[in-house]
Amino acid sequence: MLVRTTVFKVNYQVRGILSPLLNSNRKYAALAEAKSVLESELESIRVAGTWKGERVITSKQGPRINVDGSRGDILNFCANNYLGLSSHPEVIEAGVEALKQYGAGLSSVRFICGTQDLHKRLEQKIAQFHEREDAILYASCFDANAGLFEVLLGPDDAVLSDELNHASIIDGIRLCRARRFRYRHMDLKDLEDKLKESQSSRLRLVVTDGVFSMDGDIAPLVGICDLAERYRAMVFIDECHATGFMGPRGRGTDELLGVMDRVHIVNSTLGKALGGAAGGYTVGPKTLIDLLRQRSRPYLFSNSLPPPVVGCSTRAIELLLQSNEIAESMAAKTKRFRDSMTKAGFTISGANHPICPVMLGDAQLASVMAEDMLKLGVYVIGFSYPVVPKGKARIRVQISAAHSDADIDHCVNGFIQVGRKHGVVP
Ligand code: PLP
Repeated sequence: MLVRTTVFKVNYQVRGILSPLLNSNRKYAALAEAKSVLESELESIRVAGTWKGERVITSKQGPRINVDGSRGDILNFCANNYLGLSSHPEVIEAGVEALKQYGAGLSSVRFICGTQDLHKRLEQKIAQFHEREDAILYASCFDANAGLFEVLLGPDDAVLSDELNHASIIDGIRLCRARRFRYRHMDLKDLEDKLKESQSSRLRLVVTDGVFSMDGDIAPLVGICDLAERYRAMVFIDECHATGFMGPRGRGTDELLGVMDRVHIVNSTLGKALGGAAGGYTVGPKTLIDLLRQRSRPYLFSNSLPPPVVGCSTRAIELLLQSNEIAESMAAKTKRFRDSMTKAGFTISGANHPICPVMLGDAQLASVMAEDMLKLGVYVIGFSYPVVPKGKARIRVQISAAHSDADIDHCVNGFIQVGRKHGVVP
């Protein structure tokens, strides 16, 4: 009995001494477990060779940038700054003016106290630009894609989506309860089969990127609209890589292919050609936009776009409504790049789009060549599996209206020099 009491007392005292330690161990136990799981995830990404590093830019976005660790101006060929408006003086000025007049932000969602006249003006301008009834702003196009399908489609409806659509479309579709059909990339026959299969649904929506960003290929919208009309389906396009510069007036792939009045809903971004700040939107029939304002979760439950961002985007759209000059200059430079590279023996994928994928096949080659290009002062990025299919590694070059002809030639000459070194071109 005495022995037991003594043991108990000793245990009790030891636990007393150790208890802060035990408590702190308990406090960190869950975190330690999580960290070990996360570390092994990170290690598997490193081992797979799919780690995505981030270079740090120490200047404004533009055709020439400073990159941490590299000396001097670097020629930048990997931004979605298609029209060079990210650092256009008038765009910056409009942002500064909006900041001064309307403040840094709204500290509110739109429907509580987050709508300023400048948000309404931008929505009107966007609707006017796309020649649609109405527009609704989001914090990003990712949000616009996340917020659309769930509101428009219910369990009695069907959505037919290109297999290579952007990740945000895939996620948005996951959130909706419609029947899902995934058709083969740009395959009209497969789309028709799926449309036939979904005829019993209440509503049908065909969903496609206007331009696919990895290959710069353009959705066959005429064929898609023909099928949609035959099988009574609506058509949605994501125009992130088209708004502002595709088509005679830069309205998008629907304008380029003459189907502006046959595509019902367009989502796009303010974060690429239209000034590059941030923000996204949906344009389409007023009834849809009205319903999105009532029900779309990323719109209802996220802060309003900051006034400086709205100011920049509004000016960018005004510039495009005034003239086609910037878009035309970008098209001419795209042609210069594509023609010179093809002549030098490179294979450039895609169709006359400023996304110019220089096809190399081998992942290692794409990565080493991109590094060599940076040594020559040209910033381009290699893409490999899983971002693109196995065996289709490439360096993606993106042309901007802000590049000069000399910049384009410098980039081409760099590719020739590096391509010869690695035996890609003669
Ligand atoms: N859709 C497409 C086709 C995109 O390329 C992107 C951006 O990479 C998005 C949507 C998302 O746009 P945001 O950057 O405005 O969220």
